[in-house]
Amino acid sequence: IGGAVCQAREAGVSAGLVAGAAHEIRNPLAAIRGGIQLMQARGASEHARHLALVLREIDRMDRILRDLLLAARPPQFHPEPLDAAGLVREVLQLQRPAMVHQGVVLAEELAPEELAVGDPALLHILVLNLVVNGLEAMPDGGRLRVALFRPDAEHLVLEVADTGQGIPENLLPRLFEPYFTTKPRGTGLGLAICRRIVQLHGGDIAVESSPGRGTRITATLRAPLPPDGTGM
Ligand code: ADP
Ligand code: MG
Repeated sequence: IGGAVCQAREAGVSAGLVAGAAHEIRNPLAAIRGGIQLMQARGASEHARHLALVLREIDRMDRILRDLLLAARPPQFHPEPLDAAGLVREVLQLQRPAMVHQGVVLAEELAPEELAVGDPALLHILVLNLVVNGLEAMPDGGRLRVALFRPDAEHLVLEVADTGQGIPENLLPRLFEPYFTTKPRGTGLGLAICRRIVQLHGGDIAVESSPGRGTRITATLRAPLPPDGTGM
């Protein structure tokens, strides 16, 4: 996919067209997803396993399309007061079936109420991309640690650590390059988008990895406490 998009760009296909097509494909995909879920609820149990597989593949396609959409159209930054811990918890909830399927144990270290001013849609994408990368690094199970904490009133730190295959040191400088991927079906857009999101929040993202042992990604965001303490 990454290669195809690169070629499309070189051939003069506009980013707007890519974004438009990605958007148009996501709508029928959502309808297909709904249909499969209905079949899952009402169908014969011997089909359930196959339907679950189809749903996972649909979700994968949806992620690729969303990445393309974001890469083609620079994200808009709309900060607002939000429940950051709740947002992280929501994303983790969505990935629960994948974790169970893969034998990944989750360690959540989220302050019960971590309020912040940030862009909820972008933060959702940030957390999702980092968590999915962590899961993809542990196809045979492992431990995923997701921590959210506030080092001071101005900043929020999100840490996502896995016990997966790690990243060879010579590849570290390339991770955030758009279209850099080591996965047969990767887009290589996830971390590029993550970096953009963190930058929009006036922050920084860092990777530590040890091959064979795991990877830790630390995103530090300028996401201050809401002015009146709750903002809601
Ligand atoms: P994609 O996931 O589509 O390959 P990303 O931009 O999300 O694209 O990641 C780029 C590359 O960085 C991956 O292909 C992989 O080689 C490496 N990578 C990212 N996160 C991890 C991780 N948690 N463990 C090991 N490698 C990782
Ligand atoms: Mg990725």
